[in-house]
Amino acid sequence: MRTIEHIDELSLYIEDIIKQGKTIGFVPTMGALHSGHISLIEEARKENDIVVCSVFVNPIQFNNKEDLKKYPRDIEKDRKLLEENGCDVLFCPIAEEVYPEQAKESFSFGKLEEVMEGAQRPGHFNGVAVIVSRLFSWVRPNRAYFGEKDYQQLAIIKDMVSQLSSPVSIVACPIIREEDGLAISSRNVRLCEEARKVAPRINQILKKSFSMKDNLSISQIKSFVIDEFKYIKDFEIEYFEIVDDKTLQPIMKKGENGVVGCIAVWLDGVRLIDIVRYY
Ligand code: AMP
Repeated sequence: MRTIEHIDELSLYIEDIIKQGKTIGFVPTMGALHSGHISLIEEARKENDIVVCSVFVNPIQFNNKEDLKKYPRDIEKDRKLLEENGCDVLFCPIAEEVYPEQAKESFSFGKLEEVMEGAQRPGHFNGVAVIVSRLFSWVRPNRAYFGEKDYQQLAIIKDMVSQLSSPVSIVACPIIREEDGLAISSRNVRLCEEARKVAPRINQILKKSFSMKDNLSISQIKSFVIDEFKYIKDFEIEYFEIVDDKTLQPIMKKGENGVVGCIAVWLDGVRLIDIVRYY
């Protein structure tokens, strides 16, 4: 596996790969890699000649400076994990090259960004779109792989690709969970032992609400989930929304599209997200 830090070195490498007629699968990450990320690498491995993974903790998508400071970083461990899992290139650019000056791009995602993560984290999705569009222009992938855990991010990226008429195919990958059901996240390591024990309740409550979906209205499911969290100390619910799986707008009853429940909670000072697909 090659490790590339500089954008010009990557560009030369990519040019050569494209000249050889090879396809490129790309997995953008912020590092502190785990089996969720590796599942995206495996998917990319199956469908492309070359797999590129980027590790870059993107400062402009953090609206909470403390969260940025505390974000776990371990590039040597990441490198090893990628090498063991069939990645061809680790691209880990430095911030000065990614942002030689303040980013001027400004994306607009309309209603897609007015809800949930977008509503709670102003500027977050613009920051995500800026970095992903720049990475796409350097890596020039045929396909790029994103996890459904960050469900709204996936919808934003699909919209961005369509706004930019970008040729990149976006591939959605399922959530990988710990054995106890907790969605794997780089932030999980920040949970204390006690908090780690209660964290699987998030998935358990969502699963329970799924099992009741045929007997309850959408607003009843929503109240059920919110009430369940009220009974467990330590959790602070930031949002729980039941949304149309394409528009991401909260709905009161099922329409033509699928239906997804999206949640963000705080536990032990750590923000955790998860989703459940009802239909
Ligand atoms: P991050 O490094 O957290 O920005 O995540 C990089 C990519 O990995 C994003 O597309 C995430 O949705 C995806 N990802 C993170 N955790 C998981 C997981 N548990 N299962 C599947 N994909 C994940």
